Amino acid sequence: MSFLDIRGISRRYGAVTALDGVDLAVAAGSRTAVVGPSGSGKSTLLRIIAGFEAPDSGRVTLGGEVLADGPAAMPAHLRGIGLVAQDGALFPHLSVADNIGFGLPRRAPHRAERIAELLAMVELDPAMLKRRPDQLSGGQQQRVALARALARRPRLMLLDEPFSALDAGLRASTRKAVAALLEAAGITTIMVTHDQAEALSFADQVAVMRAGRLLQVGPPRELYLQPKDPMIAEFLGEAIVLPARLAEGWAECTLGRIKVDDHRSGEGRIMLRPEQLVLADDGHASDGAPGEVVEIDFAGALCSVTVRLLEAADGAGRLLLRRPALNLPAVGTRVRIAVLGGAHVFPTPGA
Ligand code: ADP
Repeated sequence: MSFLDIRGISRRYGAVTALDGVDLAVAAGSRTAVVGPSGSGKSTLLRIIAGFEAPDSGRVTLGGEVLADGPAAMPAHLRGIGLVAQDGALFPHLSVADNIGFGLPRRAPHRAERIAELLAMVELDPAMLKRRPDQLSGGQQQRVALARALARRPRLMLLDEPFSALDAGLRASTRKAVAALLEAAGITTIMVTHDQAEALSFADQVAVMRAGRLLQVGPPRELYLQPKDPMIAEFLGEAIVLPARLAEGWAECTLGRIKVDDHRSGEGRIMLRPEQLVLADDGHASDGAPGEVVEIDFAGALCSVTVRLLEAADGAGRLLLRRPALNLPAVGTRVRIAVLGGAHVFPTPGA
């Protein structure tokens, strides 16, 4: 059985169904990211796990212990669950040391040593202990919030958009450090985020939510390469969705004949990721679908190149590709587009 087990959780607020029969299993020591657009129910799910809300129906168990069974729920402070909020939610008038030690009894033996140990765990300098939160950077504040949440040795750690207030560089490094730290401590973690790249890089299990339901749950690679429908595909990154005729593991589409991960026959829709498309100068290549560059959007490291397919009979006649800034083709260049690897066929024909 999984460590955290969520079965059939539903929660309504008046006429709004925030959660609609959510099932989720989380293995001990793993990291799960819950992603989905705003309003899809991510925070409600997190609050129900934490114990700040009770479900209308459904069950939550942790390590075999029932935390909530419908509206009957164990109080939050008895659950052994740590929470790091979006902005860290540190106490502004307390020092870093007192923030970290907030959950530790005043007279706990070795209290100061424990606080120093927690500070070291989140890789902050001991000189920070006397500072107040407003004397720290955003990334440092999040690390203090994490140290505070770790102080009570939680069985489960919940992270609610923990890096969203940080700028891009700091965000990536803080995320890596936090993931490594939680892994080393063996703490089962659930993170809520609306950032797909963050979810894919942080977690070993990703759960995609929409309108109160979990649409797909699986390892990041599986969700990115084999999403159940175009909405999930697009939520997890840019996707090229094309109509295709399928037969015996191959698809015929505007880009030619492409190998697919399905043996169905008939009409269907396939997905490619932009990084699978390779541009070659028409004069140097005879393979690939012919096209003409119609637009370039220079954006630094990765630029957008829009190509009009010259032999496309249907509406899927334009493709957006990502190319490095070096050697960008000029508008008007005749090119050929070749496909690297295979395409994914959406499982339901109508999807
Ligand atoms: P997310 O975290 O994915 O943005 P939420 O869980 O916050 O989504 O919200 C899911 C839905 O439930 C939204 O439509 C939201 O407006 C509604 N909702 C959440 N909390 C409350 C509440 N306390 N009262 C009324 N509606 C709520």
